Formats: sequence, C-alpha cells, structure tokens
Amino acid sequence: MPRPTATLAASLVPPPKSVTPVARAASGGVRSAPLPVAAVPQGLGMDSAPVRQRMVQKLAQGGIVDEVVLAAMGTVERHRFVDSALVNQAYEDTSLPIGLGQTISKPNVVARMLELLRNGRQGKLGRVLEIGTGCGYQAAVLAQLAEEVYSIERLRGLHDKARDNLRALRVPNLHLLFGDGMVGYAKGAPYAGIVAAAGGEAVPQAWIDQLAVGGRLVAPVVANGRDGSRPGSQALLVVDKTAQGVRQTLLEAVHFVPLKSGTA
Ligand code: SAH
Repeated sequence: MPRPTATLAASLVPPPKSVTPVARAASGGVRSAPLPVAAVPQGLGMDSAPVRQRMVQKLAQGGIVDEVVLAAMGTVERHRFVDSALVNQAYEDTSLPIGLGQTISKPNVVARMLELLRNGRQGKLGRVLEIGTGCGYQAAVLAQLAEEVYSIERLRGLHDKARDNLRALRVPNLHLLFGDGMVGYAKGAPYAGIVAAAGGEAVPQAWIDQLAVGGRLVAPVVANGRDGSRPGSQALLVVDKTAQGVRQTLLEAVHFVPLKSGTA
C-alpha cells in the first residue's frame, strides 16, 4: 500500500513573494518586454504566458477540442518541471528526460489523455488517481480539472523531485504518494478517473476495482500482437465502468515508459 506523504498544502512553506501561484500564473508573474515570436522562456523570472499560448494554439490545431483542458494547459508552467538546461524546449511538443531514465510526456499526449479522461463533461471530475507522477507536470494540470488528485510514483527520486517542483505552486487538492501504483490507492477509491503515464501488458485489476461506476480509465497498454499490431508496441486504452460492466476501447499508438512493479 503506498504511503501518503503529507498533502502539498500541509507541508509547504509560504512561497517567496516573487513566485506566482499556479492559479494566477496566466495573468501574473514578473512582466518583461513582449516576447518576440521565436522567443522561449529563459527562466522563471520571465513571463512565459505568450509561449504557452502558442503551445495551446498548436494543441488546438492538432485536434484537442476540450476548452477546459486547453485552458489548464495554458495555465501550468511546464518550464518549472524540466531541468534548467532544457527550459528552452519546455513548450515544444516533445517529451524530455526528467532523470532516472524517465520522461515528461509530450504536451499533446498529456492533453489527449486528459481530454479522454474528461470525456466532454461539464465541470470538474471528482477524485482522480494518476499512476506515474514523474516530474509532477501532468499532475499539476490534472489538479485544475479534478476536485482531488492522488498521484503515485514508484521512484523515490522522482517523487521527491515532483514535490520540489510543485512546492511553490501550492496545489492543495494534489496529494503525492510514494509507492507501487500497480495496486492503485484503495484509500482514495472509488475514482471518477484513473490515468496512467506508464504502459504495462495489461491494466491491473486493482485499477478497475477502484474505478467508480460511471468512471473512466485511460492508460497505455503494450500490444500482444494478436490483433495484428506489432508485439511490444503500445496503444491507448480507454476503460469505461458502467453498471452493466466494463467497456474497453483501444485507440491510437503511443509510446510511454514501462509500468514496473515495486518501488526503488
Ligand atoms: N506524467 C508524468 C510522466 C512521468 S513518466 C510527468 O508529467 O512527468 C511515467 C512515470 O511512471 C515514471 O516516473 C515511472 O517511474 C512511473 N511508474 C512506472 N511504473 C509505476 C508504478 N507501478 N507505480 C507508480 N509509478 C510508476
């Protein structure tokens, strides 16, 4: 059973005055001269909102239609979640290394997963479980879309990194957990949504069990080759839990890091 660490709100020291809370990030922040079109944020002191808006435009052009997801992607400062050497690439549609052999997903993959999770609903999701906190970026976006987010990471180094990245943003409805997400997190169940950022051979039964009736799970799964797909390749799986049972839909090919059991 993963052990919850303190909620972010409880464990935080007040942010320094120069740091903008995430909810106000789009309009706040330190103002600087308008960015030229090709400019990218050089550091936390700069107003990165215009660069982020261009990322959002590209997401929309690429087929993301959920305005709530687009707004959340426009708010969360992705450059805070990558190493300083990679800040210039933070708003490109690319995955980036976050240490320990793991990667932050591409913005369009994050947006696509969250759009599928929301399934066009009005308003926020209730409680949501994320497997694979990584650097904490997707968790921060999710926290804008759900009442309560539980996010589990199996690598202590990344769990700590996510906590550091998120500290200044003060996201009171996001709870970071260190543990093996293969078993889910029963204490928070049932979940309106479950989203995994790592792909395994199959979706663990615990996730299905912890999904609420009416809830939806979005996860990459490794293809077994039986349906004509290349063995070892991954595809996005959507699972809807209804009163009548579980409905599974396999969507496009994706490329995620592997889902592993145990902690390290
Ligand atoms: N959403 C993340 C993506 C991180 S990559 C972000 O925005 O950065 C996927 C993460 O899943 C990795 O950090 C990996 O360690 C983690 N992971 C893999 N198997 C896991 C498991 N069983 N439980 C919890 N986390 C797991």
